[in-house]
Amino acid sequence: MKFATKTIHAGVSPDPSTGAVMTPIYQTSTYAQDGAGNHKGFEYARTQNPTRNVLQNNLAALENGNYGICFSSGLAATSAVVQMLSSGDEIIASDDLYGGTYRQFVRVFGRFGIKAKFVDMTNLENVSQAISENTKLIWVETPTNPTLNIVDIAAICDIARAKGIKTCVDNTFASPYLQTPLDLGADIVLHSATKYLNGHSDVIHGAIVVKDKAIADELYFLQNAVGAVPAPQDCFLVLRGIKTLHLRVQRACENAEKVAEFLLTHDKIDKVYYPAFKSHKGHEIAKKQMRMFGAMVSFSLKTDTFEAANQVLRKVEYFTCAESLGGVESLIGHPATMTHASIPKEQRHKNGITDSFLRLSVGVEDVEDLIADLKQALDSL
Ligand SMILES: *Cc1c(COP(=O)(O)O)cnc(C)c1O
Repeated sequence: MKFATKTIHAGVSPDPSTGAVMTPIYQTSTYAQDGAGNHKGFEYARTQNPTRNVLQNNLAALENGNYGICFSSGLAATSAVVQMLSSGDEIIASDDLYGGTYRQFVRVFGRFGIKAKFVDMTNLENVSQAISENTKLIWVETPTNPTLNIVDIAAICDIARAKGIKTCVDNTFASPYLQTPLDLGADIVLHSATKYLNGHSDVIHGAIVVKDKAIADELYFLQNAVGAVPAPQDCFLVLRGIKTLHLRVQRACENAEKVAEFLLTHDKIDKVYYPAFKSHKGHEIAKKQMRMFGAMVSFSLKTDTFEAANQVLRKVEYFTCAESLGGVESLIGHPATMTHASIPKEQRHKNGITDSFLRLSVGVEDVEDLIADLKQALDSL
């Protein structure tokens, strides 16, 4: 089955009891048993839910894995992966990680004796050097947020496999339409389904997909034992969103490419960050491991002040100033004061996140409207 068919059909078939074409929302906490222990595969809804099962099977197919495991948020999925580790184990992660993942590794799991080391993964040597006998997990995010660095997934997985270390790729920014890390050697792929998978900015949801049965069994155990499960209504909404994943992401990437090209030509712009550009440091790797270059575009202004950035934010009409990404609507954010405010200024600037740095999540509106909107905002500077 090809990707566009999978989004609609994989794991989904008419409901066996009624023939309902769309997967019903099984809004129940428990299931009738025909005598003690004699049930239809469903006992209690933390453990199993039919709406969730359909979504899990659909996600497994999209990521070319065998097992999907869903959670109440992307960070709940992240914590399940780390809960597979024990005190004394180490994680190596990208140094420009999603802020919530960084916070969880350091401030939550640090308390339980799990140590995280953060390295620039665009240089593979840094990863090899950080490995110790306690390293159990390598955590990759690519493209990274918000400077859109690209990490070579296959190369990292080779390094990890040679040492018996598992690799988890946070595939939120790419979505499985653009990139399937399990095909590149990753053991675990993780999503904040809040973003592209759901795609309509109306659900918080997380997902994991794996190939290996032993890893899946451990994650199903944690899903039930820790209990951060998603509600059936949210599973339904993510399933509905996925039916148009390929259409949305394709259009958003096409729009992003045109927006990025426009920004390059505007005289108020200093730098544009977008992996489709040959000048982008990760361009060749992105070309190798991604189908298109994504719909996130970042840029900085020649007038490198918060006031200039804020003026652009206030002037745009179709780009809503908000956190998050991956919805049908275009968003704009100012990482220095929003998503990355907790990073010390010096470190932020070193990573390129200067005071005028802005991040776009390009949506699926008409691209001429999007470009005209950015143009009037930039012209006002
Ligand atoms: C949003 C996000 C998360 C966290 O997901 P939630 O659904 O908000 O818990 C993790 N990783 C990345 C890359 C994200 O963008």
